[in-house]
Amino acid sequence: MDKQQEYVLRAIEERDIRFIRLWFTDVLGILKSVAIAPAELEGAFEEGIGFDGSAIEGLARVYEADMVARPDPSTFQVLPWRGDHHGVARMFCDVLTPAGESARSDPRNVLKRTLEKAGDLGFTFYTHPEIEFYLFEQCDDDQAPLVPVDTAGYFDHVARGSGHDFRRRAITLLESMGISVEFSHHEAGPGQNEIDLRYADALSTADNLMTFRTVVKEVALQQGLMATFMPKPMIDAPGSGMHTHMSLFEGESNAFHDPAGEYQLSGTGRSFIAGLLRHSHEITAVTNQFVNSYKRLWGGGEAPSYVCWGHNNRSALVRVPMYKPDKGQSSRVEYRALDSAANPYLAYSVILAAGLKGIEEGYELPEEASDNVWALSPAERRALGIAPLPGSLSHALDIMESSELVAETLGEDVFEFFVRNKHQEWETYRAQVTPFERQRFIPAL
Ligand code: GLN
Ligand code: MG
Ligand code: MG
Ligand code: MG
Repeated sequence: MDKQQEYVLRAIEERDIRFIRLWFTDVLGILKSVAIAPAELEGAFEEGIGFDGSAIEGLARVYEADMVARPDPSTFQVLPWRGDHHGVARMFCDVLTPAGESARSDPRNVLKRTLEKAGDLGFTFYTHPEIEFYLFEQCDDDQAPLVPVDTAGYFDHVARGSGHDFRRRAITLLESMGISVEFSHHEAGPGQNEIDLRYADALSTADNLMTFRTVVKEVALQQGLMATFMPKPMIDAPGSGMHTHMSLFEGESNAFHDPAGEYQLSGTGRSFIAGLLRHSHEITAVTNQFVNSYKRLWGGGEAPSYVCWGHNNRSALVRVPMYKPDKGQSSRVEYRALDSAANPYLAYSVILAAGLKGIEEGYELPEEASDNVWALSPAERRALGIAPLPGSLSHALDIMESSELVAETLGEDVFEFFVRNKHQEWETYRAQVTPFERQRFIPAL
């Protein structure tokens, strides 16, 4: 047993932990959990805990259904909302095959592999997500209109508002689980909030995001509310994005930083952005994985619809945020397509792969977009070489299916499962006859 594993066993005794939840995610980024008793933990560290992989979206083919979850002791945290007495703790797991090899279908493993590739090139990948979500009144009737908890807007201070108490409670819990929050505020939509996590390596960020979603949902329930990360829950209010700020470090130094570069951005940073732009169409099915994601991308409210980059341009897909001279290492790139319902392991994998491709191939960065690209006419955008992002999940999947970059990054198992599952979602969706159609076509037709 190694030191970290021993530390976990000791902590479990000292902190009166009775249940240990082993967490992992399916291919769509839905959290899975199995609870074990402390007495089982030593065995779990050595051999893992077996489960039926075929019952979990995308993890195993039926004929190799046995899978093994082995906890990663570096992710041990006590779940603070379960109290001190007979407490509950959790660890993220690596999913293995019965032969003890990393499962190629495990999203966490996909990200680890991609991070290793960055490591081979000398880079560590850091990410900082801005997570938007909505708070609604609880309601069991899925036909009833959603009722946001307030009518406030961007950065509004809501005196004694539920959002305020909510954010304070959620952030306290997150911090007690070792997840640092940089800022939080009311977002533009009624009942919409944003919480931004501090920079961490991408694997920790992805783990933190899974925890974040659980904490936010948990706190909402405790307060009699409902939180949702659905990309576009309301027709006439902005969607929920998960803009992510990224940088590559070489040892202690930020590879995107060059004091002499335009916006202090290095050649490496420029090629990384060029890679994001060139491959953005291919990766959109992964960064925006639900039929509803495209309602956000094409629904206004500052979600990006066109492929271009800009310096402080909020209509751009990639933004180079204001440089802070007092923070020498703060050069970074913000990717704005991602939504709050993405599987963070897979989304960060394909984004990183696209950026690295740009660096490896030395892609040239096109001219930046200085205008608000939404306000330009289609002809003006064409003249500037600014293409639209895919308009629907179906369109995004068609592009992804012929992407070598995405196939290579996700690996065959995840790639095939993902495409199949998402085509099914599209086909079920396409078959719907919606209230919109009824209102629009009856009685005229
Ligand atoms: N809600 C917007 C989006 O979906 C972002 C708004 C903002 O943070 N400027 O991307
Ligand atoms: Mg923000
Ligand atoms: Mg925001
Ligand atoms: Mg942003």
